[in-house]
Amino acid sequence: MRVHCCAVCRTDLHVVDEELAHPSLPLIPGHQIVGIVEKIGGRAVSFAVGDRVGVPWLGWTDGECRYCLSGRENLCENARFTGYQINGGYAEFALADARFCFPIPEGFPDLQAAPLLCAGLIGHRSLRFAGDAERLGLYGFGASAHIVAQVAAYEGRRIFAFTSPHDEEAQEFARELGAEWAGSSEEAPPEELDAVIIFAPVGALVPAALRVVARGGTVVCAGIHMSDIPSFPYEILWGERSVRSVANLTRQDGLDFLALAPEVPVRTEIVPFPLEEANQALDALRGGRVRGAAVLVAAVAGA
Ligand SMILES: [Zn+2]
Ligand SMILES: [Zn+2]
Repeated sequence: MRVHCCAVCRTDLHVVDEELAHPSLPLIPGHQIVGIVEKIGGRAVSFAVGDRVGVPWLGWTDGECRYCLSGRENLCENARFTGYQINGGYAEFALADARFCFPIPEGFPDLQAAPLLCAGLIGHRSLRFAGDAERLGLYGFGASAHIVAQVAAYEGRRIFAFTSPHDEEAQEFARELGAEWAGSSEEAPPEELDAVIIFAPVGALVPAALRVVARGGTVVCAGIHMSDIPSFPYEILWGERSVRSVANLTRQDGLDFLALAPEVPVRTEIVPFPLEEANQALDALRGGRVRGAAVLVAAVAGA
């Protein structure tokens, strides 16, 4: 495919910073690719030359392990991931297995569509694990949270956003997207929450989140990597509170979310960078200076 753009994910930073084990080196990062099919090989029949496709993080599964056979291909023992074990989208051209690509819904320009492919998808999977929580907390208001907030508001949930202390810009952004309260992760929200999703890669937020969820509440860790979680007293977990992680995506998650996004409709906010400035984009993400999602633009963006 000819790459039009590729959104930047925090996972790319974890890969580049060598926080994830066993990347295939040398490696082209990037797993939120939007482009046009240039050439089709083998038995790929689901797309035609000229189609606009999206390539997500899950790049290949074996289809035969106990996870794949039970509808949990996101946990496949032999899974390979785009921009990690498979060359990704920080490039002008990319090769992808058509079985793991998605058609991009009409009405989303390329740059606005790209962040749907991981920030949106993983955010949506995380939101599902929050169950029917009415009062939803989001820790870390970046690419994923800014999409989840829109879906959560559409579903009638109440949103409470937590950011780094003194990050008033992110708090304002959260309020614009429907959060009824936004504050520092060191503050207590005005009332107990029913579920919390942690997007920031900060283990200390796990006990902090457990202290603000009500009995029966869930703390969902959405990232692939986190700093160590400090020990905490059992009493903040007691009361049937739970902590769980979210790993990767299934193709069904992708189809479900890409059908839902135009219904909401999700409006992604993006900060474009030319492909040559990939390192600057990663630095901006690392420094928390991106409002919404950074997107690398490889060529003249199409429709
Ligand atoms: Zn498998
Ligand atoms: Zn990602």
